[in-house]
Amino acid sequence: MATNDAFQFMKLSRNPGDKVEASVRKIEFKEIYQPLHAVDAADQAGRCLSCGNPYCEWQCPVHNYIPNWLKLVEEGRLFEAAELSHQTNSLPEICGRVCPQDRLCEGACTLSQGGFGAVSIGSIEKYITDEAFKAGWRPDTSKVVWSGKTVGVIGAGPAGLACADVLVRNGVKAVVYDRYEEIGGLLTFGIPEFKLEKDVVRRRRQILEGMGVEFVLNTEVGKDVSIETLLKRHDAIFMGMGAYKYMKGEFPGEDSQGVLEALPYLINNVRQSLGTLPAGEQAISMKGKRVLVLGGGDTAMDCNRTAIRQGAKRVICAYRRDEANMPGSKREVANAKEEGVEFLWNRQPLAIEPMIGGTLAVRLAVTRLGEPDVKGRRNAEIVPDSEEIVECDHVIFAFGFQAEAATWFDAQDIAVTGSGRTLAAACGQYPYQTSNPKIFAGGDMVRGADLVVRAVFDGRMAAEGVLRYLY
Ligand code: FAD
Ligand code: SF4
Repeated sequence: MATNDAFQFMKLSRNPGDKVEASVRKIEFKEIYQPLHAVDAADQAGRCLSCGNPYCEWQCPVHNYIPNWLKLVEEGRLFEAAELSHQTNSLPEICGRVCPQDRLCEGACTLSQGGFGAVSIGSIEKYITDEAFKAGWRPDTSKVVWSGKTVGVIGAGPAGLACADVLVRNGVKAVVYDRYEEIGGLLTFGIPEFKLEKDVVRRRRQILEGMGVEFVLNTEVGKDVSIETLLKRHDAIFMGMGAYKYMKGEFPGEDSQGVLEALPYLINNVRQSLGTLPAGEQAISMKGKRVLVLGGGDTAMDCNRTAIRQGAKRVICAYRRDEANMPGSKREVANAKEEGVEFLWNRQPLAIEPMIGGTLAVRLAVTRLGEPDVKGRRNAEIVPDSEEIVECDHVIFAFGFQAEAATWFDAQDIAVTGSGRTLAAACGQYPYQTSNPKIFAGGDMVRGADLVVRAVFDGRMAAEGVLRYLY
């Protein structure tokens, strides 16, 4: 409960919730961070200094009212905290779990800057919604007056869900189409369960359906239903279709047997646990195998840790820059190390050679960091005569994804950039409008592969654009 002790941040240390022991968590697909108890959540919230100009709020991509909901948690006013948290974020319990807080809100916390350990903002955000739902709280849509207008949302990922959330709160029916059998986009078919259990996404589906969102699943726009049909059926369209074009390494042997792409591997694993593996698709397992993961982002970490949980004999992750310059969240790298993943920093793959007996020899060269490029990123340069061979049974490519235009974009006058990102926001009269005035877009397909919370922000802002377009 509230102590009003201005020095609580010194007396109590940071507590993001207990983490399951590495020896236990590496044999199960369950979230590794335990929920905060009410008393710990209140104590942590009480560490907040209520800064006059809260940097955490500015660094949070959806600009959550962080100090305000921390105060409510400290005072035990859970439902009010849930209400406030939903005013800026459509998926707070999910962002609380998967945001790289060290780079966002918590990295900007004054306590973190001062060396005291940031307030555990992410864990508290998760706590608020999880506990409020358990206690029966639901978003209040009782005063919504339905306008009779409908919007077709393509993609049930965070961008599409956030857009649908804001639309129904404003009396516009949202019908969300997705090619997959479950909602969530990469929340379900990408991010593994040790970061985000799938029940959390299913619960959000129930909440959204309760608010009036309709989901039309197993339906690919452009294949099972045409965009022309959707344009006739709805008053506007929002596209949150993600970025799925696979980036290749462009070196010999990439197509060898035993080489896997990250996303199909992760999706196969999720479907094994959901029990939705399509007939004829083999379950992939790394049990007893030596695995080499190439890449240094969140996707690479997820592949590493999935292979560990599947019982791999050895998992090595090779990345072309050093640890300080890798794109993945520091927290996830630390978790991967604790779970037994070995890292080879400053390594550039040159070729994969299949060997007799079905194993793979991967040629790697040592790199060093050169001068920063125009974006300030230091490029990896190969050190001459530094080659080494790593032998393994499987290589998993995790080099990232790019957005790309759907086949029907040209016919609908939807413009994209040279790198395949859909042009929105800058080119329309309304926020997130594309070059086709009736079609809006946001999330990874506009930004390129990014973060859940930024997709949520886009979906919410695009909904504002759609509402202005409709009225
Ligand atoms: P998506 O989540 O990709 O959703 C797009 C949806 O559109 C999909 O469901 C797709 O099926 C559907 N779709 C596409 N085309 C059609 C069509 N024609 N018809 C019908 N449906 C269609 N971010 C974080 O913040 N934290 C993390 O820890 C994190 N981990 C990640 C791990 C992995 C393995 C990956 C790949 C990404 C990770 N990300 C993480 C990034 C994050 O998941 C994405 O930035 C975010 O999901 C983008 O949301 P979106 O709604 O734009 O797209
Ligand atoms: Fe932090 Fe993400 Fe929550 Fe914003 S949404 S407060 S960045 S955890």
